[in-house]
Amino acid sequence: MKRWCWIFLALLLCGCREQLAPKETGTAHYDRPGQSSRKTEESCDMTVFAMDTVMSLSVYGGNDRLMSQAEERIKQLEGLFSVTDENSEIHELNSRGKAKLSEDTERLLESALKMCSRTQGTLDISIYPVVKSWGFTTGEYHVPGKEERAQLLENVDYRKIRLTSGHASLEPDMEIDLGSVAKGYTGDELLALLRENGITSALLNLGGNVQTLGSRPDGTDWLIAIQDPQGSGYLGGVAVSDKAVITSGGYERFFEDEDGNIYWHIIDPVTGAPAENGLISVTVVSESGLLCDALSTSLFVMGMEKAEEHWRQYGDFEAVFVEADGTISMTEGLEESFIPADAGLERDRRIIRRN
Ligand code: ADP
Ligand code: MG
Repeated sequence: MKRWCWIFLALLLCGCREQLAPKETGTAHYDRPGQSSRKTEESCDMTVFAMDTVMSLSVYGGNDRLMSQAEERIKQLEGLFSVTDENSEIHELNSRGKAKLSEDTERLLESALKMCSRTQGTLDISIYPVVKSWGFTTGEYHVPGKEERAQLLENVDYRKIRLTSGHASLEPDMEIDLGSVAKGYTGDELLALLRENGITSALLNLGGNVQTLGSRPDGTDWLIAIQDPQGSGYLGGVAVSDKAVITSGGYERFFEDEDGNIYWHIIDPVTGAPAENGLISVTVVSESGLLCDALSTSLFVMGMEKAEEHWRQYGDFEAVFVEADGTISMTEGLEESFIPADAGLERDRRIIRRN
């Protein structure tokens, strides 16, 4: 029985614009028990299909002009970062081995490379040829053998990507993909645009990447739901203001072979195969969408132990981890703000402490 009333952002339709698309969202906003959506101010809502996912924007005090600007900004960034669009800067870099970059692409690439280095290559944006070989880009799935993977991995090494004063270059046979961080960057840029326009309350859901501006119009926290990676319900939610809540999960994009083996889209750059280090979902909470996006992918690859170490070392984010056996762990900063629901109610929660 559902205890709470859930509001699914992906279903928000609006007067400004509307487009629907197929991808499920990993996170959504909902109301606390006994709390209904009391709107003190009308929101302007928009749903756009971009970056291969559904993006929903809910902006309090917004107007049609601002919503169109936000949509244009999304399309502009998609046009720069898309790995498949032949006119994108990333496509040019991949096909010619070098490209002059716009300020946005340069900034995203620079930040992404810093995160590759910070996470010791568990995030590696040059993993693209491997992702392609598994068929995650086309849907024509294939399980590459050990030799094929070893060969592909010879060209995977983010340290070989050169970036100097707006020009990037790659080694022969290298290709990059900013898919693991592009939505986080886009969320940060949209929030900056909204802030510049005097907005103080907004909720963005970019295909499961939730980013909040301020608090709800009535001053209370947004409650962002975290999907149960092993079922159709939710583990619970985190109460946040001015934060990004971003999840990477094996359940988001995967395929199954004839023997029933499951292969998901997050690849371990050491093996060239889907990361199987015991985690099935990682949710990262921090002020930066880009940091959350990069970390949710890379902590998933690291596995529980290394991910905990990473949190202790950097301390600039909080996280919720779900392991293959169903165990839920979360960093101590979320102890108060995590509210269990459905699948999270009957499970123990382990709190990861600093020492
Ligand atoms: P999603 O985009 O589904 O929300 P992520 O942010 O976790 O999920 O990004 C996953 C995407 O990043 C994959 O679809 C793939 O293109 C790419 N990718 C997979 N593994 C890695 C990795 N280890 N490092 C960098 N990018 C990766
Ligand atoms: Mg990511």
